[in-house]
Amino acid sequence: LKNKYKELEGLPAATKDGEKVELMANIGNTEDMEFVVKSEAKSIGLFRTEFLFMDDEYPDEEKQFKIYKEVAEKLPEGYVTIRTIDIGGDKNSPHFDIAAEDNPFLGYRGIRLCLGETEIFKAQLRAILRAGVYGSIKIMFPMIATVQEFMDAKELIEECKKELRSESIEFNDNIPVGIMVETPAAAIMADAFAKLVDFFSIGTNDLVQYTLAADRMNKQVSYMYSAYDPAVIRSIGMVAQAAKINNIPVSICGESAADKTLLPVFVGLGIRHLSMSVSFMPEVKWALHLRSLAEDEAIRDEVFGLYNKDDIKEYLKKVSEMLH
Ligand code: PEP
Ligand code: MG
Repeated sequence: LKNKYKELEGLPAATKDGEKVELMANIGNTEDMEFVVKSEAKSIGLFRTEFLFMDDEYPDEEKQFKIYKEVAEKLPEGYVTIRTIDIGGDKNSPHFDIAAEDNPFLGYRGIRLCLGETEIFKAQLRAILRAGVYGSIKIMFPMIATVQEFMDAKELIEECKKELRSESIEFNDNIPVGIMVETPAAAIMADAFAKLVDFFSIGTNDLVQYTLAADRMNKQVSYMYSAYDPAVIRSIGMVAQAAKINNIPVSICGESAADKTLLPVFVGLGIRHLSMSVSFMPEVKWALHLRSLAEDEAIRDEVFGLYNKDDIKEYLKKVSEMLH
């Protein structure tokens, strides 16, 4: 079965009629790079840097600089999207003092925490700005809910640049800055954000839980938690539309980016970048080439006429089985 994927090796990932969809890699540490360089991914769509902060040893600016530089240098044809620290929620770190919360996923996490702990955040931003001299890097903020948060985070980048300049330390002044769209607030405000940010990446893992108010870790409500829900699909559509109108790139980097059954909907909605664990790339690439863009758009239209996630899933499963 695996061998059929070989037929597409070396060809760009595209629909049957040649509409390209870039497949990028998700990584959590530098060890993952070994698999990325062996894969067809040219870029990293999501580097979850919080894992660096889970070790007992604090990764200071110098240590982070070396890591980001090393990763960027391994992607000569592409770029690395460095997501700034996303601690909180279900992820803890010995380097942050997070009080016990009743609702950690609705609490002090991601960009909220970083805007409160500016010393740690700025060390990371400085490391990224400096590494940007050695390769293509993009900065991505997690858990953005308001335009103000984005402005505040951008302001901290400007402060870091000023500091580096006055210290005569080399840095890249032109690093693109984007956001994860993973809160309903960010999706609703996508038209406004699209005028301010350089790119969007849709984090479906969180977008699903926040859209449906269903904790992604809670088994009792896991029947609610689904990227097939029409509210989630419409939300992704809104974000893709805002990105298109404002001419900025948009990707999906949550787990559903690798979901072959949802793939025609994403392509039909205008998504042209998907970021996933590299192990899924060959099968997603295969599934992508089985249909034309027009077929994907027709599937999208059918899905928009369905109001129940189970109906959507059943329909999409039926359509994808027709190809096998
Ligand atoms: C997401 O929320 O979809 C995402 C990619 O981020 P994480 O899974 O790390 O929260
Ligand atoms: Mg997330």
